[in-house]
Amino acid sequence: MNAADHLLPPLTGLDRERYSRQMLFAPIGEEGQAKLLQARIAIVGMGALGTVLANHMARAGIGFIRIIDRDFVERSNLQRQMLYDEEDAASSSPKAEAGAARLRAANSGIIIEPVVADLNATNAEELLTDVDLILDGTDNFAVRFLINDVSVKHGIPWIYGGAVSSRGVSLTIVPGETPCLRCLFGQPPGQGTAETCDTAGVLGPLIHVVASHQATEALKLLVGARAALTPKMMHWDIWYNQHAGIDVSQARKADCPCCGQLSFDYLEASVEEDTIQSLCGRNSVQVQPSRPQRLSLADWEARLAPLGRIERNPFLLKLHLDDKGMTLVLFPDGRLIVQGTDDPVAAKSLYSRYIGM
Ligand SMILES: [Zn+2]
Repeated sequence: MNAADHLLPPLTGLDRERYSRQMLFAPIGEEGQAKLLQARIAIVGMGALGTVLANHMARAGIGFIRIIDRDFVERSNLQRQMLYDEEDAASSSPKAEAGAARLRAANSGIIIEPVVADLNATNAEELLTDVDLILDGTDNFAVRFLINDVSVKHGIPWIYGGAVSSRGVSLTIVPGETPCLRCLFGQPPGQGTAETCDTAGVLGPLIHVVASHQATEALKLLVGARAALTPKMMHWDIWYNQHAGIDVSQARKADCPCCGQLSFDYLEASVEEDTIQSLCGRNSVQVQPSRPQRLSLADWEARLAPLGRIERNPFLLKLHLDDKGMTLVLFPDGRLIVQGTDDPVAAKSLYSRYIGM
């Protein structure tokens, strides 16, 4: 025990009861539990991996959990995204808000902070640098390379996780000690070259294998049990019964652009332009304005009502353009998802025409 540990607030009687089975595990104990209750983490993405991660972290008593997700719940999520139900899908609840409600119901003694936003170079440092650990629940490599930049620049560990089809991967990255994502992968695979859950599917149980491994590594890091961390990149194929750990402890590269040369290309990417991104396999395109807006969805409902059927909840507005076979989903920060097209040009033109910022 070092000097700082004596400053940890004592556990309450309710804490002792709630976390008793976790505290009986000797490597965590009462001291570890007190550390968990003081810990702050961010989870990027509240899809399949994110919901399992958040569930584990909230129940384990991590004191502050920020959950970041840009999407709303859809029926096709329910097979594996464990915090959501049919009502969330019917009401198009944002995943961060719906997830926060479930997590608060499971543990009212911790702070859950939902953020409905697309993590990008403009907001990544604001959202990810006041925490002790970042957990990856995303489904795309561009965001992972951005997380990796924040992690190395600010010395904050992160835990990569991925799951597609029946195959999963997990890797714990501690800046200055382990290789970073760029040491191992160089750069993200090109757009459309990687399999995704939307094109190759995914088995629900696989999510729990990967996220539970990430969550266990997170507990080790947060109680300070660095020696217990795995030095391996873990791989699983749960359908074809394969399981491997590749030792990457010697894979740190002195000339790595990120952790070797401290060049944070993804964080410093130019974000002057509006970002238009085809959401792979979902027949949807997202338009993210270069500067966040503050829209009144009620005003926008009045403005767009003549154009088609409108649905609105506190977090988003949907305009159904039935004649075009498209739906526009508008968020208060000015972000628009155009459902019913893969064509970025068509999406941008709809954005200019109807939203026009
Ligand atoms: Zn590196």
